[in-house]
Amino acid sequence: MNANIAVIGMGVMGSCLALNMANHKFKVSVYNYTPDLTDKFIKNHPHENITAYYDIPSLVQSVARPRKFFIMVTAGKAVDAVIDSLLPYLEADDIIMDGGNSFYKDTQRRYKYVTEKGFKYFGVGVSGGEEGALNGPALMPGGNKESYPPVQSVLEAIAAKADDGKPCCTYIGEDGAGHYVKMVHNGIEYADMQLIAEAYLLLKNVGGLTNEQISAVFNDWNKGELSSFLINITADILKEKDDINGGYLVDKILDSAGQKGTGRWTSIAALEQGVNTSIMTSACNARNISSFYAKRQQLADSGLKQPLPVQIDADFVEDVRRSLYAAKIAAYTQGFELYKSASQIHDWNLNLGEVASIFRAGCIIKAKFLNNITAAYQKNPQLDNLLEDDFFFSKIRENQLSLRKIIAKAVYAGVPIPAFSNAMAYIDGLCTKTVGANLIQAQRDYFGAHTYKRIDRDGIFHHQWQKHY
Ligand code: NAP
Repeated sequence: MNANIAVIGMGVMGSCLALNMANHKFKVSVYNYTPDLTDKFIKNHPHENITAYYDIPSLVQSVARPRKFFIMVTAGKAVDAVIDSLLPYLEADDIIMDGGNSFYKDTQRRYKYVTEKGFKYFGVGVSGGEEGALNGPALMPGGNKESYPPVQSVLEAIAAKADDGKPCCTYIGEDGAGHYVKMVHNGIEYADMQLIAEAYLLLKNVGGLTNEQISAVFNDWNKGELSSFLINITADILKEKDDINGGYLVDKILDSAGQKGTGRWTSIAALEQGVNTSIMTSACNARNISSFYAKRQQLADSGLKQPLPVQIDADFVEDVRRSLYAAKIAAYTQGFELYKSASQIHDWNLNLGEVASIFRAGCIIKAKFLNNITAAYQKNPQLDNLLEDDFFFSKIRENQLSLRKIIAKAVYAGVPIPAFSNAMAYIDGLCTKTVGANLIQAQRDYFGAHTYKRIDRDGIFHHQWQKHY
């Protein structure tokens, strides 16, 4: 058989992607290092365009040149193992793609390793989970640009399509660019989810709304500028009944969030690059503190926290909506600042408008307002910070008073809303002429002779401080 592509790894994502490719009329060879999973897949999903292989040499021979391999296995050592198993059988210009959630620095290393051997390599960010993989994910391929055309037809065919019919897939940049963009996408997803959870907490614990009422509020919000996949599913989740024990399922779920690490990677990359992604980092930290479940139950009853009474006015729900929108803009602004910095550091030449546009369908953060981000970068591809764009500037001005009011109420009530608070601090930090760094520079010079610059003349200065300690 002259297959168009081989998919390696018949787990959840690999099987769905193989089916998606086959449904789009591509001839697909499939392989898993343990044969049982391949057998199970073939038995459960017989398809005229799919053929199973049980050894690497036959798998490689089954694919038309330049051969295309899409690896979808557990991120980490498994990816290296699969690459090494393929290399002895490849011929010049064959293409290896890794669609797992690989760390972008691993992808940079593998890109160099594979490319130096005369083959081509792509790290492909895949978003959308199992359903996306089957019916149309958002795809972020990064790798050897000259080899993008042979893989483009497959990737664009299986990708989700936005409302304007465009595939949610675009060539991102060299080496680890695709996986970097996917990593930050996940960091933004952490922030988005945390902001929504904080809005829920405010409506419930400060506003006193019921689950059904909050579900209706989210439904309503989904009709306007907040319209997004995450707002939509939140409305569904809040009204879901518990079929085991009665009541609402959301109230029976342990209040302790898990994480697989891509949000943390984003924050670490941001710190390394010197970019402020405080909203994403606060989302990671909120998941961390949520996991100290038993300690929180104990301290909550200890009397340590001393909340103050809060007045709820008629605008409360609308203020929460406006706060969520303003904070969401701030979170995406941080994410796109990080992209811009990475693009400069790694020479990726990222097209930020295109990046926003491929998130419009197939992925968890798909949202109406991504169109506004694309428009902002189309208007000014050199835009430093999204908040400087007219649209986002006016939206922050329209909504920030609500954000200030809501944060004040939450602080009074003792309800933790770290992502909202960090969004406000980020906006205020960016829009404040003096932030106290003069004193920090003075302290650094006092104890460590680290020097400082002056506002009234050029040069680097050190002062002999009068020390009285
Ligand atoms: P999964 O269902 O656990 O499948 C993992 C696959 O990797 C299985 O086929 C497994 O084979 C194979 N594998 C494990 N160790 C291997 C090794 N040493 N050599 C060769 N193959 C090995 O995981 P998944 O959900 O499909 O995820 C696959 C990748 O996609 C991960 O990087 C994940 O982070 C990423 N991803 C997942 C999602 C999602 O929503 N699930 C979304 C986007 C990206 P055996 O079972 O036979 O060991």
